[in-house]
Amino acid sequence: MTSLTRADWEQRAKNLNIEGRAFVHGQYCAAASAATFECISPVDGRLLAQVASCDLADAEIAVADARSTFDSGVWSRLAPVKRKEVMIRFAELIEQHREELALLETLDMGKPISDSLGIDVSSAARAIRWSGEAIDKIYDEVAATPHNELGLVTREPIGVVAAIVPWNFPLLMSCWKLGPALATGNSVILKPSEKSPLTGIRIAQLAIEAGIPAGVFNVLPGYGHTVGKALALHMDVDTLVFTGSTKIAKQLMVYAGESNMKRVWLEAGGKSPNIVFADAPDLQAAAEAAAGAIAFNQGEVCTAGSRLLVENSIKAQFVPLVVEAIKAWKPGHPLDPATNVGALVDTTQLNNVLGYIQAGHDDGAKLVAGGKRVMEETGGTYVEPTIFDGVDNAMRIAQEEIFGPVLSVIGFDSAEEAVAIANDTPYGLAAAVWTRDLSKAHLTAKALRAGSVWVNQYDGGDMTAPFGGFKQSGNGRDKSLHAFDKYTELKATWIKL
Ligand code: NAD
Repeated sequence: MTSLTRADWEQRAKNLNIEGRAFVHGQYCAAASAATFECISPVDGRLLAQVASCDLADAEIAVADARSTFDSGVWSRLAPVKRKEVMIRFAELIEQHREELALLETLDMGKPISDSLGIDVSSAARAIRWSGEAIDKIYDEVAATPHNELGLVTREPIGVVAAIVPWNFPLLMSCWKLGPALATGNSVILKPSEKSPLTGIRIAQLAIEAGIPAGVFNVLPGYGHTVGKALALHMDVDTLVFTGSTKIAKQLMVYAGESNMKRVWLEAGGKSPNIVFADAPDLQAAAEAAAGAIAFNQGEVCTAGSRLLVENSIKAQFVPLVVEAIKAWKPGHPLDPATNVGALVDTTQLNNVLGYIQAGHDDGAKLVAGGKRVMEETGGTYVEPTIFDGVDNAMRIAQEEIFGPVLSVIGFDSAEEAVAIANDTPYGLAAAVWTRDLSKAHLTAKALRAGSVWVNQYDGGDMTAPFGGFKQSGNGRDKSLHAFDKYTELKATWIKL
């Protein structure tokens, strides 16, 4: 993957030239107010950059520019095969800059450099390339009409798209939106999280280098309640695509209703159940997957397997296997290529997670692994992967999205009970089932109210599969051709011959 050592990465970090300005009409620019905010690294608390703090005035400028660029047709009316070529070039540039982007991502949000490089950046490039490659292979429809009529059902780009994204996979979540939004010909304004704006800002320049015309891809860093809200309320934004918390997702639906009824597509929170039946094909593999499902990316994953549902007949045997397996997941310096658990994104998140660990104790769950902040001397925000056994599904640690490395283990006696517990949260993002019984696997998968179900694995999938949630985990889907629905309007043109 990379031969770079921690010392090499640290040296590169010292020499890194970090861009913190907004990007509008093909150029970096300060916020209209000239305001900035500090971008602090959770790795060690160091100041990385001053970042433009955009607000309503910047949203006005960027939306007007995105609109006129869209109307000009310079991108929206370009032949799909041409857009494809540019998108593929964009993906190649992301790959060429993979080490720089991975370093920015790790410094900005604390995830291990090996993950930034091997997962975030490579999957982001794949999302752009996959969407670009698809765009000249999609056909519209001709309706079944009487002989003297012709009915065309065509897709058109929707116009100006605002994409508001979170901090846990900053580049990847952006590219899940940018891929289909740009491939279908829209103009996009990306609003990265104020906690992790750097890679979004950086790739805007790569988009221009790739040949995406100025005004088609703009980036407005800043806070949610300022520039995020301004975009969500804007009368000339046609579609709002969002990944983030359920709380903000609900607020965005209100903003759309209060403004222009813009389309709103939401990828929100999760509290995903990982169900291990007594007849799981390989308990050791299931235990290792259960540990990874909560420790990967410090548990800051919308699909984190945060509730481990274990059939009571094997629970006494299985939980120690998970406790053993989680020892392989240790917080370490994020720039060390051997590290698999990095820093939590900031001190607010650190305190949230520690608060939930305390809630687990207070509500009577039994701590069997982790439970503490570690590496405090680094100035960073690190927490041990933590497991509570004896959890009741009504407890706060089983109901609320912690978004940190805290696993709740819950016992069950029958498939019906497992499904009832699994579905008993406001969320419906993902779930997993471990069994060697084919019928039980299928019947359980069907009964689970979740957008993704994995069998005998955790977190499978690819750009080829739609991703999104049931219930309060959201609406619409990222990835796959289904994602294109969010960025296009259907038009029926009926012609009398
Ligand atoms: P968040 O909801 O706090 O913020 C997400 C984005 O919304 C940020 O860019 C933020 O600045 C912006 N925002 C905040 N208030 C806003 C407002 N009033 N108007 C407009 N924009 C506003 O979420 P977060 O803490 O950044 O991310 C963590 C959440 O994201 C978790 O709940 C996680 O489950 C979810 N998530 C979901 C998926 C998915 O695909 N379903 C993927 C990753 C993360």
